[in-house]
Amino acid sequence: MAAQAMTARAAAGRRISILGSTGSVGCNTLDLLGRGDERAHIVALTANSNADRLIAQARAFEPELVVIADERRYRQVRAALAGTRTEVATGSKAVREAAALEADWVMAAIVGAAGLAPTLEAVRRGATVALANKECLVCAGALFMQEVAASSATLLPVDSEHNAIFQVFDFDRAEAVEKIILTASGGPFRTFTREQMRHVTPAEAVRHPNWSMGAKISIDSATMMNKGLELIEAACLFPVPAERIDILVHAQSVVHGLVQYNDGSLLAQLGSPDMRTPIAYALAWPERMPAPCERLDLGAISSLSFEAPDHARFPAIRLAREALQCGGTAPTLLNAANEVAVDSFLSGRIGFLDIAGIVADTLAESSFPSMTSIEDVMAADGWGRRLARQFADAAARRRGD
Ligand code: NAD
Ligand code: MG
Repeated sequence: MAAQAMTARAAAGRRISILGSTGSVGCNTLDLLGRGDERAHIVALTANSNADRLIAQARAFEPELVVIADERRYRQVRAALAGTRTEVATGSKAVREAAALEADWVMAAIVGAAGLAPTLEAVRRGATVALANKECLVCAGALFMQEVAASSATLLPVDSEHNAIFQVFDFDRAEAVEKIILTASGGPFRTFTREQMRHVTPAEAVRHPNWSMGAKISIDSATMMNKGLELIEAACLFPVPAERIDILVHAQSVVHGLVQYNDGSLLAQLGSPDMRTPIAYALAWPERMPAPCERLDLGAISSLSFEAPDHARFPAIRLAREALQCGGTAPTLLNAANEVAVDSFLSGRIGFLDIAGIVADTLAESSFPSMTSIEDVMAADGWGRRLARQFADAAARRRGD
């Protein structure tokens, strides 16, 4: 009874927007919202190009507005929703405007740096922002967090590791925290040699052993750049210096994150690898709500394994740590180069090992001035992309030889 009441309270009467509603996190969010008896009021849903899914979501949830960023799909969405109460808009400016609409709770689930400007719109309005889009924090870091502080927005981490740490981090006694630990599944190539990785295909790389996710984050998991991005994300979110943020490979993806305190206690959050748990936590926070995820049967799992990451086979984590240490534009360039390299790999132009190579080359060719505005972030992102494209073109040519 109490649990049912919470479902209703988490959703009922709240004005909710989902940026990136057609993606993996977006769909999981709507799955939770579609279960309560009392519906949340959906203000806006936005997507890049998946018109069919956006139309279906609009019919089911009757938002005030849907935005399809890809202008070529606009007519299709507008025609399909003609005569409904949902307004339809298109273009990246319209995505930002959707984020700026009055909503109490906004899920930021656009993938990549494309999510930065819309997420900032929600932050500047002082909304509660459930943050899945880690690239926002990687590319804009302290500037993003300053915007959060200035607007009194509430930022709730949705990335499973950060959500886990958020659940067990005692913010009132942060000085008692010795370190935080992010776990990593190790991805589909956890046991592969570099030689084996050289020949893997995009289809093999997106097949994550534990999680079902969008293509970009799945590739990031396979290179372990995902954990590098998450290291930078954690350094932004938690008052713990980077050298006290550890990464542990944990193949079962059961323990998501841990906090070690100065009395020797290690507190962890465990759960099955299902994003609906961290999303539900962010939806109900500071309460809890029921989520239909499979419950862990630790007796059946029987043993959990942990090991240090192998930096020789997976250089991406080290690249991210170095970028974090360098500061300035370095994390922005790391992210931009990685996005370009992942795209090139997914389109079959470059090999899997080229991804980290392109990121390393981009960083090696750059200096890292400090950034004082979001415009500086955008400029660094553009520069990083241009440089990385040159390295990707060179890698593609080498491959074609
Ligand atoms: P996805 O690729 O499945 O979905 C991305 C969404 O963003 C889609 O709705 C797409 O239409 C939209 N989008 C993409 N490019 C856009 C653009 N240029 N303009 C406007 N909209 C655009 O991605 P995902 O797996 O749901 O991940 C979303 C974010 O959450 C990523 O930053 C990812 O790192 C993070 N995250 C995802 C998971 C997961 O389980 N999938 C877990 C942790 C963190
Ligand atoms: Mg994660």
